[in-house]
Amino acid sequence: MEEVYPDIFLIKEKGAYGAFKPPQNIYIIAGSDGLIIDAGYGDKKTVKYAVRQIRALENEFRGEKRDFSLNRLLITHAHPDHFSGAVKLREALGIKIILSNLTAARLESRKIFFEKFAATREQLMRSKRTLIGRIKDFLRERIGHFMFARAFGLTLINNPDLTIPENCEISINGENWRIFPSPGHASDHISLYNEKKGVLFSGDNVLRTITTWLGPPDSDLEDYIKSIEEISNLKNIQLILGAHGSPITNPTERLAEILEHRKERLKQIENLIVDSSENGITPSEIVEHLYPGEGMWKHSIARGYVVLTLEYLEKLEKISRKLEKKGIIRFYPTYSK
Ligand SMILES: [Zn+2]
Repeated sequence: MEEVYPDIFLIKEKGAYGAFKPPQNIYIIAGSDGLIIDAGYGDKKTVKYAVRQIRALENEFRGEKRDFSLNRLLITHAHPDHFSGAVKLREALGIKIILSNLTAARLESRKIFFEKFAATREQLMRSKRTLIGRIKDFLRERIGHFMFARAFGLTLINNPDLTIPENCEISINGENWRIFPSPGHASDHISLYNEKKGVLFSGDNVLRTITTWLGPPDSDLEDYIKSIEEISNLKNIQLILGAHGSPITNPTERLAEILEHRKERLKQIENLIVDSSENGITPSEIVEHLYPGEGMWKHSIARGYVVLTLEYLEKLEKISRKLEKKGIIRFYPTYSK
């Protein structure tokens, strides 16, 4: 366990299966009335590891005759790498689970939860699908559900102890922290900030080296950019603690870099479409252009982002779509260079 700021500790959970189950962070704000941020994975081994780390921290505090009370757990958003361990941690540690109203609504039932992962938007703009395509999509979805359940130890939270608005204050060790909505990556995403310390818990929105995943049906590019801009405008921001990877000690630079990267990608996709002129271009061709020679896995991850960007450019009326024979969607520029 690493102390990333005085009395704020990071438990790094090991991942598995490469990008499918990335290493995940759990944070502890330790003290007389502390808080755990995010619950990590819910498989037995990982939960056991987290509990052991928390017990060790408690012993350390008691050894130093310092108050240690850790009664609450806050979840940043309803993605399985962040909440799956919550119910088991509650059982093991006797803590209360706090969810935002939006997160609580998403974790109520399996049906609602999985709806947010169904790759709709015309199955990521493959448009009209063949029977084989449909069977493939169905199987992919089933396998996805099965992998989530097994690898992540997925456990929904249909009985949180406390639900809170997305915009509110919370007292931690006698200090006020602000909770605010930061949708984009997930529509229910919240962040936690203490202006005096300049410390932000950013969940998945701001990560040190990884580009945050965005894709339908739940992500929104416009919301994401707005959230990053709002975070950039926080007064006195000094340290960002993301849900994956190491602490960000240069928040201003990293936030500017993220915004720049998104703008660049947007321009890149727009240019591809303008260059295609009267021939138009399909989402698959755009993915291939952006990630030449990459495998199916990387392409399927990138595809969600491309689809969101296309919708955004359509909304700005910079491009328009046309459905062709065999259900192929092509995008055309609404202007020429
Ligand atoms: Zn997430």
